[in-house]
Amino acid sequence: MPRRSINSAMPILAGSIAAMAFAMGAIAHDAGYRRGLSLAVEIAEAERIEAPVFTGLPTRDVFEPTDRETFTRLAEPAVTTATGRGDGPVIILVMDDIGAEEARSMRALDLPADISFAILPNTELAPEFAVAVRGRGREALIHMPMQPQGDGDPGPNALMAGQSEDQVRSVLEWAISRVPGARGFNNHMGSALTLDVAAMDVLFTQAETLGLYFLDSVTAPQSIAAEMAENHGILAASRDIFIDHVNELDAIEAQLRAIEFEAETRGHAIAIGHPRDLTLQALEAWIPQAEADGFRFVTLGDWLAETREPVRLASSGEAPGFPGGSD
Ligand SMILES: [Zn+2]
Repeated sequence: MPRRSINSAMPILAGSIAAMAFAMGAIAHDAGYRRGLSLAVEIAEAERIEAPVFTGLPTRDVFEPTDRETFTRLAEPAVTTATGRGDGPVIILVMDDIGAEEARSMRALDLPADISFAILPNTELAPEFAVAVRGRGREALIHMPMQPQGDGDPGPNALMAGQSEDQVRSVLEWAISRVPGARGFNNHMGSALTLDVAAMDVLFTQAETLGLYFLDSVTAPQSIAAEMAENHGILAASRDIFIDHVNELDAIEAQLRAIEFEAETRGHAIAIGHPRDLTLQALEAWIPQAEADGFRFVTLGDWLAETREPVRLASSGEAPGFPGGSD
């Protein structure tokens, strides 16, 4: 759907001003990033005068009834970036857990490539991060909390086994309202739920009409989530490599080599990292080098839309660096 003319100049302006705001925020991370986010929200609010239900600064853990149609409309990408040119191996990089550690999440937004950001909907600044991602022409996902094995805590408003269709629907609509403009969703934790056929059937039945793609984070090797999503007609893929399952620089750099190997061997690699100091340090050095070496960073949404490759099953698609179950 074409953007209406009244708004035609706003995305570029919003992107530029938001980029300036965030550059300023980046200079003084701990002190400045909240101000940068607030400015970005003001700009984004001006940009989407057609979205009267946007609530600005929702508080933590609050279910807010919203008009889903509005956010479905917002889910159309406002800015299309121009990476992915050429024909080198494709690297799809998703940064998970955005919003949990705010300063490091902000630093992650500065990573110099077309990567995707999976935002935890139950974090206080989730909408602001969604706007920040969108203002920079990047791609946002909903990082949907799901029930893990054992007694790990997925946080408030997680998808859990045994929830009714109505409950799951409510959680999905709430999550969309918390991450406006998201193009897809992936699981945060979920090593129990992604094995649960009944729960996955309810989830993807409810998700069918949302227009979101699904990325299986593969927190359990036997996950059936991506296959179930695809059976429901949802564009889906599975994570190949966790960058920082071992939070040590040597291990992270080895995973980056594994990503390159996977991409060169199979044409593409789907990697997930987290906004931690060592991961960010490694990615900040590696991304420009990888691009210089001919690798192309493409968002998962763009890649899925272009290729529509059959989903790789988590249990059979284990790639170098797959460490087994992980929440
Ligand atoms: Zn996570």
